[in-house]
Amino acid sequence: MRILVSGGAGFVPSHLCDRLLDQGHEVVAVDNFVTGHRRNLEVLSSRPGFSFVQADVTVPVELPGRFDRVYHMASPASPIDYVELPFATLYAGSDATRHLLDRSRKDGARFLLASTSEVYGDPAVHPQTEDYWGNVNPIGVRSVYDEAKRFAEALTMAYRRYHGVQTRIVRIFNTYGPRMRPNDGRVMPAFCSQALRGEPLTVFGDGSQTRSYSYVSDLVAGINGLMESDLAEPCNVGNPHEMTMLELAEHINRFTGNRAGIVHKPLPSDDPTRRRPDISRARAAFGWEPQVPFDVGVSRTVEFFRGLMERGEL
Ligand code: NAD
Ligand code: UDP
Repeated sequence: MRILVSGGAGFVPSHLCDRLLDQGHEVVAVDNFVTGHRRNLEVLSSRPGFSFVQADVTVPVELPGRFDRVYHMASPASPIDYVELPFATLYAGSDATRHLLDRSRKDGARFLLASTSEVYGDPAVHPQTEDYWGNVNPIGVRSVYDEAKRFAEALTMAYRRYHGVQTRIVRIFNTYGPRMRPNDGRVMPAFCSQALRGEPLTVFGDGSQTRSYSYVSDLVAGINGLMESDLAEPCNVGNPHEMTMLELAEHINRFTGNRAGIVHKPLPSDDPTRRRPDISRARAAFGWEPQVPFDVGVSRTVEFFRGLMERGEL
């Protein structure tokens, strides 16, 4: 198949491109580098079937030929990115989703939206099932991301209902792995970089808030599985292995041998208190299950950041 991936220079989308190329597809990645990195294209660029277009997908992009699949992955995704880039984030959910849905409609392509567990906000239901409608502050600092993704889901469903576009919606839970930006502010790159530099890990608040971490290869297998399934409803993809941020910090310090300990910093506003996916739908619809144990994923991630440190990029 011929496949368009928006945001292809980003962390998750670049791994998705690798997987699609492994399957023998032709992949066209589009990115404007707003939060992505050229480093993520180093290996991809030399692979047969891969091409890259530098462009902003919030405006229509001239791309010749016809696509069979469109993965809309482009959006700032880390809290510090989307707080610094509020309009780019809102338009990645709104305008970009619209243009890529239009392109899918024109080509008769199947369209997948990368949505997020943030549509559940600070969830009152735990673990989160897809039929939970969420608890989002519509004007808080995270709203530019949460509401953009909620709007993107609504737009995707409208194109499905009114224009008959074949759509898929994946609600991605916290994911980690190689190719994250060391300074993107998310907890995994922050803790790994701090630990490798021998600094104390910055735990926000008392560290009792929880997240559930999925290794990136498991996530992209789930995204790809959903795209090729018959499931039209939104689908959680994440690892139900839940931990507190304090436990995560202690784990990273132990794993790296960092003796600098932990410092507590203020908890950002509207920081969700807990998060864990219910993955029954993904299991039933396309047999997806996370495969990579946490220790293995952490080891590969720390090795990636160690590599950056050796190149003077950490
Ligand atoms: P990332 O920032 O590494 O990747 C996003 C990519 O999109 C970047 O390369 C960026 O430059 C590009 N981009 C943004 N706006 C663009 C635009 N207007 N035009 C072209 N390119 C644009 O983030 P990521 O963590 O890889 O996230 C990828 C997708 O997955 C995002 O849609 C994000 O919301 C979603 N997601 C990720 C996670 C996670 O834990 N990583 C969790 C939930 C949802
Ligand atoms: N966090 C932290 N220290 C950091 C960065 C983040 O304790 O240096 C916390 C943050 O407050 C949140 C959790 O880790 O409770 C996950 O944060 P991240 O930004 O990675 O993802 P999100 O909040 O979007 O799930």
